[in-house]
Amino acid sequence: HAKTGGPGSFRLFDPAMNQQVVRRLQIHNALHQALEQGELQVFYQPQVSIASGAVVGFEALLRWNHPTLGWISPAEFIPIAEDSGFIVKLGEWVMRTAARQAADWHALGHNSFRMAVNLSVRQFADPRLPSLVQQVLTDTGLPAHMLELEVTESLALQSVTTTIGTLNACKALGVKLAMDDFGTGYSSLAYLKRYPLDSLKIDQAFVRNLTQDAGDAAITRAIVAMAHSFGMSVIAEGVETTGQLDFLRTLGCEDFQGYLFSRPVPPDEAVLCFPGYHPG
Ligand code: C2E
Ligand code: MG
Ligand code: MG
Ligand code: MG
Repeated sequence: HAKTGGPGSFRLFDPAMNQQVVRRLQIHNALHQALEQGELQVFYQPQVSIASGAVVGFEALLRWNHPTLGWISPAEFIPIAEDSGFIVKLGEWVMRTAARQAADWHALGHNSFRMAVNLSVRQFADPRLPSLVQQVLTDTGLPAHMLELEVTESLALQSVTTTIGTLNACKALGVKLAMDDFGTGYSSLAYLKRYPLDSLKIDQAFVRNLTQDAGDAAITRAIVAMAHSFGMSVIAEGVETTGQLDFLRTLGCEDFQGYLFSRPVPPDEAVLCFPGYHPG
């Protein structure tokens, strides 16, 4: 074990593992600078109504282009930022950036869309969250109902009372709440009905083989039925084929998001998704 050994104990690691540790450390160290040096960007992925085909929202997704390491996936750096606690500062920056962007689009006359922002477990556990959200709304002038917070099932790792309290405090501000990656985590269905959620996002793990795998189809059908019986709407993630979209339509799923319509794109491309947009 590294703790008990001297410098020579690194030989006990297999080289691949050592490389992983070095990369983690590199990313950890570079992340603070990345925010200050403008290496981070927010991209936006359109969310589309299955019934009308209209763009009804966007999900804000972080992108990092490091000068020497190249593009680093949020799937890799978000967990590292979570461990160090830096995610709280990073997440605040994303929320401000996305809300400002949405307010700019609103000022152009686009008023029927929502801007969804991912919240990490640490951000959700921060007692200052509701006042931060209110501050961001006030500073940007974005109407509360146009901001959506995506939480994950791992928030249930806190006490249920605390979780419900935080969700209610956010809800009271007028923002929308969505449960992200639904079906992959630990949340108990008994708690789910007590959470004041507006929508569930079906994880792409279920969507991927929707048309071939009877089990995934059954799970998706059950999620949609349950969500509707709780008064929540459903958005499917990772939709890549018209086959998947047709199936989701027959299940009564409201919205979708996926490469079939668009990848996450920078703001100047995202704005083109609005109907009636005429580039000046
Ligand atoms: P997520 O919130 O579940 O976001 C959906 C992910 O699915 C995004 O990956 C998106 O690019 C990808 N995706 C969308 N459509 C398709 C599709 O049709 N096919 C496939 N294969 N993938 C699709 P991305 O951007 O790499 O983000 C990965 C995860 O990193 C996110 O999953 C989220 O958990 C986290 N993340 C990204 N940005 C933020 C952020 O600002 N804050 C926090 N806390 N987490 C973030
Ligand atoms: Mg998300
Ligand atoms: Mg998701
Ligand atoms: Mg996901």
